[in-house]
Amino acid sequence: MNSRRTIGFIGLGHMGGPMAANLVRAGHRVIGHDLMPELLGTAVANGVEPAGSSAEATAAADVVITMLPAGRHVLGLYREEGALAAARPGTLFIDCSTIDVADARSAHGTAVAAGMRALDAPVSGGVVGAEAGTLTFMAGGGEAEFAEADPLLAIMGKRAVHCGGPGAGQAAKICNNMILGISMIAVSEAFVLGESLGLSHQALFDVASTASGQCWALTVNCPVPGPVPDSPANRAYRPGFAAELMAKDLGLAADAARAGGVHAELGARAAEVYAAYAEGAGTGRDFSGIVGTIREKSAPHTVREGDGA
Ligand code: NAD
Repeated sequence: MNSRRTIGFIGLGHMGGPMAANLVRAGHRVIGHDLMPELLGTAVANGVEPAGSSAEATAAADVVITMLPAGRHVLGLYREEGALAAARPGTLFIDCSTIDVADARSAHGTAVAAGMRALDAPVSGGVVGAEAGTLTFMAGGGEAEFAEADPLLAIMGKRAVHCGGPGAGQAAKICNNMILGISMIAVSEAFVLGESLGLSHQALFDVASTASGQCWALTVNCPVPGPVPDSPANRAYRPGFAAELMAKDLGLAADAARAGGVHAELGARAAEVYAAYAEGAGTGRDFSGIVGTIREKSAPHTVREGDGA
């Protein structure tokens, strides 16, 4: 480590908790805050100093990292909770949450108007990546801000890409996840089609994983149990990457496509498919469980227990 930083970390949930713990392990001082006392307790057990409010977490910090559910939480924190007002001028605010591009630009503008510096740096890699310190960061903001954040991002992740100015990280994130959502539906439809044609899951996997159907949804997060032993399909679709989060990201992508007049037909349809799944059978499940819904809608008599729904 080059120098010990004091980091305010707000949002210690599935992602933020292990990210903060990795920063502590690397020798940094981390002052954490979360609305849920039990999460703060877990963070404290991992060496995080507790703060009773977001303002308390930012007051002594030279870098503040937020990992919150949505744009309204980030903007609320910046504008209403006094997180910016309490911070020292010039503090670098890094928002790692996945939020709307317009909200990210708004948050950036609010931080800069308050005399702070800002970077959006959403992540890919899920809870497993957060725990292992192997996330990919997609950053938006100035060169100097990215350069300052980079050593910290390198602790929490294996790769950080500077995508452009404010909001560019969020833009890259929703474009990537639009690919992922569409490809998971495609892979799932192919497995169900294969089943109806008498093809084993392993045979289809062995062909597609080394042919032109190869993609992350197939080779890492395979939606049927068996071919990829670590995929959520082998543990009753426990996330992983929750269907609710995929629905959220696809909604952000579809909104952005509509706003920009982009004809993203499959992106829009994938957003509808995942919105319905997340509110129904997919509640609390990994997004790959969509295969069960496709199977169920295709031929109810072929539904097998444990194969998702
Ligand atoms: P989470 O719900 O587990 O954690 C968010 C935490 O923020 C919660 O613990 C909540 O109590 C806290 N919080 C909300 N408002 C707060 C406030 N004002 N002050 C303090 N704490 C507050 O969510 P998560 O799974 O950790 O995801 C966080 C972000 O990362 C989301 O934007 C999500 O889309 C994104 N993301 C998640 C994953 C994943 O696999 N979980 C992967 C990539 C990106």
